[in-house]
Amino acid sequence: MIRNSVLTEKVLPILQRHEGPMTRELLLSPGEHGLGMTHKSLAADEVTTAVCGYCATGCGLRLHLQQGLAVGLSPESEYPVNLGMACPKGWEALRVLDSPNRATTPMRREGNQLIAIDWDEALQMFCHEFKKIGKEHGPQSVAFLSTGQIACEEMAFLGCLAKFGMGMLHGDGNTRQCMATAVTAYKESFGFDAPPYTYADFEASDCLVFVGANPCIGHPIMWERVLRNPNDPEIVVLDPRVTETAMAATEHLQLRPKSDLILLYGLTREVIAIGGVDKDFVERSTCGFEELSQCVDAYTPAVTAQASGIDEEVIRRTARKIADASAASFWWTMGVNQSYEGVRTAQAIINLALITGNIGRPGTGANSITGQCNAMGSRLWSNTTNLFGHHDFASAEDRQRLAEILGIQSERIPDQNSLSYDQIMDGIDSGEIRGLWVIATNPAHSWIDQDDARRRLAKLDFLVVQDMYANTETAAECDLLLPAAGWGEKSGTFINSERRYGLHKQVRRAPGKALSDFRIFRAVADYWGCGEMFSDWTTPEAVFQIMQRVSCGRPNDISGINGYEQIDQCGGIQWPWSTQDAASGLPEQERRLFAGGKFFTHDGKARLITAEPGTMPEPPSDQYPFILLTGRGTVSQWHTQTRTSQSPILRKLYPETIYAEIHPHDAQELSIATGDSVRVRSRRGSIVVQASVTSSVGQGQVFIPMHYGATNRLTLKHFDPYSRQPSYKDSAVSLERVQ
Ligand code: SF4
Repeated sequence: MIRNSVLTEKVLPILQRHEGPMTRELLLSPGEHGLGMTHKSLAADEVTTAVCGYCATGCGLRLHLQQGLAVGLSPESEYPVNLGMACPKGWEALRVLDSPNRATTPMRREGNQLIAIDWDEALQMFCHEFKKIGKEHGPQSVAFLSTGQIACEEMAFLGCLAKFGMGMLHGDGNTRQCMATAVTAYKESFGFDAPPYTYADFEASDCLVFVGANPCIGHPIMWERVLRNPNDPEIVVLDPRVTETAMAATEHLQLRPKSDLILLYGLTREVIAIGGVDKDFVERSTCGFEELSQCVDAYTPAVTAQASGIDEEVIRRTARKIADASAASFWWTMGVNQSYEGVRTAQAIINLALITGNIGRPGTGANSITGQCNAMGSRLWSNTTNLFGHHDFASAEDRQRLAEILGIQSERIPDQNSLSYDQIMDGIDSGEIRGLWVIATNPAHSWIDQDDARRRLAKLDFLVVQDMYANTETAAECDLLLPAAGWGEKSGTFINSERRYGLHKQVRRAPGKALSDFRIFRAVADYWGCGEMFSDWTTPEAVFQIMQRVSCGRPNDISGINGYEQIDQCGGIQWPWSTQDAASGLPEQERRLFAGGKFFTHDGKARLITAEPGTMPEPPSDQYPFILLTGRGTVSQWHTQTRTSQSPILRKLYPETIYAEIHPHDAQELSIATGDSVRVRSRRGSIVVQASVTSSVGQGQVFIPMHYGATNRLTLKHFDPYSRQPSYKDSAVSLERVQ
């Protein structure tokens, strides 16, 4: 139990008061522009705990308060996720709020400049422009792009406001770039997007298999949990690079880029061949074993070795480690998800866990590690490509159920799925989509094939950016900027990688006229003329209660959670937690899914799904002989660096200049030394980087971190056909030393 008397007795009533109904008068009164909080009632030495707002690890941070405002933080030792640890981003979470680059007032474009305006003018402009476009070109002509960085309650508000209130048909999130593949894979295999694990599994495995994942850098606190494992576990890493995690592995399979599906099939075949199948579990709890066996039969150790570059003996040894483990767990991240065949690769991992019976027990699981702090909130609550609460837009029954719970007409709910992110970008290019509302994401930096993405964004008639910072690449292109409060300046819930709802809290004033995203959505609803539809959506906690009703009876049922206060006191609560569960007592801190071997499919059996491996769309050629790999650079960088670049300490912990890792053999051939300027060219564009000569990349490969503004000028626009997730890690490039 975490000591959080501050939240329950003092902060919460204040938050509720200040997140109260948004009237036009309140919106425009000066005191409200900074959320108008006074915290005089809080003593100087009090602390409260909130979950971190960067990554999906979801660490608890202890916030030290003076007069109710946070003046410092430290990792929360009693939070079940991080157990007293935090990475540099978490330690610096407050400092980035004080940046001079914060957006502090609404701004509209006038020629080449953005000029400050007040909220009234901004909201009138917002409604006028979007309504005009909709009237002239139809409801499909405006769309939104959301994020995995805002609270569940804010995502819920945005998605329901845009689609049910404003009549938009299309909206997607930046989670398309990170988690769409895992979502699709889980839905097809388990019947629901349901990561099965809990972080205690890092400590309970005796064999951990990481595929395309570098938790040392990407999820350092999860890696700390691995280091606490008392079983002296096997740590197997499948990665084309010698990452920090690979260096710590007991077995690193340094496979050729994009040979992961073949290698996983080769391992599966070998596991079957050596009798590593849990026949009872396969019979009782899965479908498709015969088809799986037939599919993988072609991938003998010799064939697999030829395709992947991994020695036959290593393949056999790794299969043996998996088969002999009493509790094997399988973990993957972007090396799998960001692939043109990511869904089938993720399912090859799921298949391995299923056929060996490694699911539903401590230390097991086919476990996708999530990226952003609330990527899972986006998956369940954003009302983008899934109907609110992970329902189906195409199902009349789902639409009717939702309409009844929300008290709206079912006709207001679109009966078709939204376009995905790439399809929205295509719609912009074709002129079908003319207005775009971008919330807490930065497509002009992060979207694949950046020059093309920017060309498309420039075609829009009206681009609105809602963000904490005024200096993002996308904000530079916008027609209207809406200044948003950040983490620490508002409250709500995030869902971490292990399905844990955690609370973040308002412990700072937002600067200038910035408002919480929640308040902006309320204001938009009022100005748009659909405020009545959201009359119950008064506070984040009121929306959480709506989400609870929507979740009732579903796999993600949270109806048994006794409000924010219980989430706070329990150190977060994993879904599901239904009213039936709650009848048996308080939630345990670590719970995993599928303990009974029952899945969310109609017959309760998991599906073993396979496909023939495809070929790389842009293989290396004479002109472009290298494969470009992209990914996380350091633990101190986050995505497009809109936040991490605002911390002088974090900036000192990563290279300021964009760099490329080049193998020593290739460097020698091209007369390149560390520190040289090198031109990297693809069929899309050309950039200059600093060389870092290192054998952490294989020969014929180049690695450039994704955080730098220029990286995506090189990447090839292609997608997994099932998840529509971009494939960022397989573009052909050339290298040339700049004299
Ligand atoms: Fe925050 Fe993630 Fe770092 Fe934990 S690991 S402190 S959640 S950024």
